[in-house]
Formats: sequence, C-alpha cells, structure tokens
Amino acid sequence: MMLEDLRCAVAEANRALVEHQLVTLTWGNVSGIDRDKGLFAIKPSGVPYDRLSPGDIVLVDMEGRVADGALKPSSDTPTHLRLYQRFGDIGGVTHTHSAYATALSQARVELPCLGTTHADHFMGTVPCTRQLTPDEVDAGYEIATGDAIVERFQRAPDPLDPTRIPAVLVAGHAPFTWGKDASESVTNSVALEACARMAILSGLLPPGEPRALEPHILKKHHDRKHGPGAYYGQTHRPGL
Ligand SMILES: [Zn+2]
Repeated sequence: MMLEDLRCAVAEANRALVEHQLVTLTWGNVSGIDRDKGLFAIKPSGVPYDRLSPGDIVLVDMEGRVADGALKPSSDTPTHLRLYQRFGDIGGVTHTHSAYATALSQARVELPCLGTTHADHFMGTVPCTRQLTPDEVDAGYEIATGDAIVERFQRAPDPLDPTRIPAVLVAGHAPFTWGKDASESVTNSVALEACARMAILSGLLPPGEPRALEPHILKKHHDRKHGPGAYYGQTHRPGL
C-alpha cells in the first residue's frame, strides 16, 4: 500500500468514528500501520473530524518519531506504538471514549460474554487493565498505558490472544480496539460499544424468569380499549 493510500484510509477511519457515534468532541483516534515501511499513520491531536484530510494525517516511525506531517500526532500515539510493537499481527488501532465501554472502564469491570452478539466478535471476556502507579504515569503515561494493556493480555495463567479478543478496557480511562487494518479496528470499536451497552442493559434486569403482567391488569387494559364497554379515547369529539 502506498503511504498516501494509508493516509486516506486512516483519515476515513477517523471520520467513521463520528458516523458511528463513537466520539464526543475530539475524544478518539485511529491509526493504521505499513509494517514493510515501518511507519504508522495517525490522527493529528485535537483536529475536528470533519476538517480532517489525508494530508493532516501524521506518519510516525517505530521509535515514535514523526516521520512526515506538519501537525502534532495524537497524544495517545505512544500507546498505539506499543500495541504495534507488541502485537505483531495487528494493522490498525482505535481509541474512543464511547459511553458504555468507557462506563465499564471507569467502573474497572471486565466485559463478560453474555450472548451470541459478543461471541460473534470477541472470544470471551474483554479484559480490563490494572491501574497505573504514580511512578508509571510520571515516567511516560501513554507508553505505560500500552504496557499495561500488553501485560493484561500476557498475564499468567491464562494469556489472551489479541487477534481473538481485539479489544481492551483501560482502567479509569476508556477502550482501545485493534484489527487487521484501521477500518477493522473501528468496526471492533462499534462492536465493543454495542456489546457493552447490551451487557449493561442485561445487568439491569432481575435474574430468573421475566415477570408477566398480572392477568387482571392485562384484562383491564385490553378491555378498556377493545372490549365491549371500551371507554379509552374520545367518545364525543367536540366541534366535530
Ligand atoms: Zn482517551
């Protein structure tokens, strides 16, 4: 892929965040990598999505240095870099603060697989990272965030496969997802948000059988609208 094509694809993937209602203000960024050239393309920091053109997309090398671009890359760039360095099969990374997935991140709750919607996308629980220490934050907050994600996936005794669970909830922060390219990483953010929303809604329902409406209230309501003595609505409509 030409680098110009990569920039176009990454600009489009960033704009897709708005289309999928995954971002508020500029709280989200997408990147995509060209592993042969050792460069990844990422959203510039703080630029509104509707004004984002391929030329604004910043190219960054595998040391985290800007290789090409007039604008400053996203402040989350070191986290993307770490994921590309440690997860060798991924080609795109998305970070958003989408509401339901972020709610789980803030609650430090992992997202269990409760149904087939989740199973179609994620091979089991979407994990949550540990909280960073003050020293880690001081030494390099964004790289430490990437390290905490990798650490969570490599944790014994049950390491997780990032290609089968392409998402993580960063404790106290928000989700990151990835995929084979920038576009697929956005799709995985859409899926994560939908699964997080459904899981939270599922948790609001009491366990056991759903409770049916009492028969006498069912009959009353149905009959008052449709029964022989129906009285719902306007019998006499003044002026007509
Ligand atoms: Zn963030």
